[in-house]
Amino acid sequence: MTVEGIDGAGKTSHVDAIAERWLARGLEVLRTREPGGTPLAEALRELFLHRRMDALTEALLVFAARRDHLVQVIEPALARGAVVLCDRFTDATFAYQGSGRGFDQGVLAQLEAWVQQGRQPDLTLWFDLDPATAAQRRAAARTADRLEAESLDFFARVRAGYAGRAAADPARFARLEAGGTLEQVRAQVLAVLEARGW
Ligand code: C5P
Ligand code: MG
Repeated sequence: MTVEGIDGAGKTSHVDAIAERWLARGLEVLRTREPGGTPLAEALRELFLHRRMDALTEALLVFAARRDHLVQVIEPALARGAVVLCDRFTDATFAYQGSGRGFDQGVLAQLEAWVQQGRQPDLTLWFDLDPATAAQRRAAARTADRLEAESLDFFARVRAGYAGRAAADPARFARLEAGGTLEQVRAQVLAVLEARGW
């Protein structure tokens, strides 16, 4: 399962609660994130976050990190029956590098096929929030992300990218109204999990 959304949508706050719910059921839970999740992929994340690069380099870097993450961590975890809970995955690449930066979606789809060999999340929680509210939340939290300087327009494109991915795969995506309070969003998260018997 993956969680997605624009910066400031609040997705990360809910990952702990989801992990606890599954741990309480005696499941092995692997909590991880992208870009990152292995020593190599975390090193690539540092480069990705702090160096300037063109869109193709950015895309290749996140897919290289993803490949290592899949091979070293995710596939072995799934093979032993663990539940994998990943903060961002390939939908973020389509939304940020694709829709946000205008990078060719067809090339991203090819990289996705090469790197993932058909592997997809079984569920993606999309924390959907309008860019203006998200910017206020980021300012309040004073998070110094690499995209802090990006415009509302950029995040509107990223959001549209998520909407497109969700429309293309409605069985996998659950859209959450992330503008509510923490408790309201938490209730939506739990409702989605309960509807699936998770
Ligand atoms: O989700 P997280 O806060 O860890 O992401 C770190 C930064 O990298 C954020 O600013 C996020 O928007 C950005 N990012 C990106 N392209 C991706 C994934 C994350 O620009 N594919
Ligand atoms: Mg963040």
